[in-house]
Amino acid sequence: MNSNTLNSLNLYRLPWTLPDNGISWLEPTARCNLNCYGCYRKNIKDSHKSMEQVKHELDVFQSLRKTDCISIAGGEPLLYPNIVELVAEVKSRGLKPIINSNGIALTKELLHELKKAGVFGFTFHIDSKQGRGRGPQWEGKNELELNELRLHYAEMLAAEGGIACSFNSTIYGDTLQYVPELVAWAQKHIDIVHTMVFILFRYVTPDLPFDFYAGDKKIIFDDIHYHSDKEEVTNLMSPQIVAEIRKKEPDFTPAAFLNGTHKADDFKWLLTERIGTKDKIFGYLNNKFIEMVMEFYHYKNDRYLSYASPKTLSLGRATLFNLWAINKSVRSALKKYFGYIAANPFRIFKKVYMQSIMIIQPVDFMPNGDQSMCDGCPDITVWKDKNGKDQLVWSCRLEEPMQYGEFLHTVPKN
Ligand code: SF4
Repeated sequence: MNSNTLNSLNLYRLPWTLPDNGISWLEPTARCNLNCYGCYRKNIKDSHKSMEQVKHELDVFQSLRKTDCISIAGGEPLLYPNIVELVAEVKSRGLKPIINSNGIALTKELLHELKKAGVFGFTFHIDSKQGRGRGPQWEGKNELELNELRLHYAEMLAAEGGIACSFNSTIYGDTLQYVPELVAWAQKHIDIVHTMVFILFRYVTPDLPFDFYAGDKKIIFDDIHYHSDKEEVTNLMSPQIVAEIRKKEPDFTPAAFLNGTHKADDFKWLLTERIGTKDKIFGYLNNKFIEMVMEFYHYKNDRYLSYASPKTLSLGRATLFNLWAINKSVRSALKKYFGYIAANPFRIFKKVYMQSIMIIQPVDFMPNGDQSMCDGCPDITVWKDKNGKDQLVWSCRLEEPMQYGEFLHTVPKN
């Protein structure tokens, strides 16, 4: 499948830009209690930042960029000793704190504390290449067997109540096959799983036809943090994921995207929004629906939406009845909903939900060596350069400026 199968002109270009975005990325620590294979960050033991430093980074975001949420990431943010204070700080600034965690350090007590501090949501990163060997033994489990672990966290959040629940998985060449079942699993738990995110694996491998440079200094391949000596599939593209999902769910229709910095029709972030119950999807909401939500939210709040609350996402039926007249995709979902009720009137008591599926396609190499990034990078973070000046940099490539003082550039091999 190539990108022509998805036509960027039929999708809504998410309105996120450098100065006005839904998301910003804060790393209070680089320490982690896992060593995921596909991770782009070094696991550094003594790397907790002071509260003063993280508050300064929040100041930098707020002085340069409108943002709706702060993704508190890492490292593993739950290892950060001041995590509850940090969540309260983000909340007190009128932003939504979202914790990006592997979940290992999450207890019911800590969750309760975080809820009281104002946490808006969690994104749990769970996939089969994280080397999870603790607690209930997850080592060696495939993506589908890990659904038991995903459900554990989704139920934990649901029991606490009012917290958005998302799951991230890095998708590799050999785990692509599981994506349709993960999407089906998410539907089965549409009441408590609000978002699924599939991040396409990117590493540099020896067969890459480029040399890496910092300034004019050639970089030794083995020194690049995200390199692998193994043969790897490192060029999965978003349309391939859509094609895979459609094998099981032919109606699956993305609605919005972020293009690449070097390609207008690249689907760097590809958003699909669906509406349904645990046993039936009534439809996929279209480009105009997302545009309407984003622009209305921005008009009201002066920033673009990132995550919606569980309460909003549970208003599926109200959405069908209130918006059918102004949106074609809602109209067609409402028709299917009527058919569903007609077949069994007791189904009127079932709640209707909305759910998001996001596909993220990180850095791609252009033939001339340019690296195409997500245009209007939502996961941008703060880095202090050698002159002590705060810069906003791509978090997925943070190791480069940290190690070399600048982003590496790539040049085709002779
Ligand atoms: S450019 Fe990198 S850090 Fe930014 S959104 Fe894309 S993958 Fe994430």
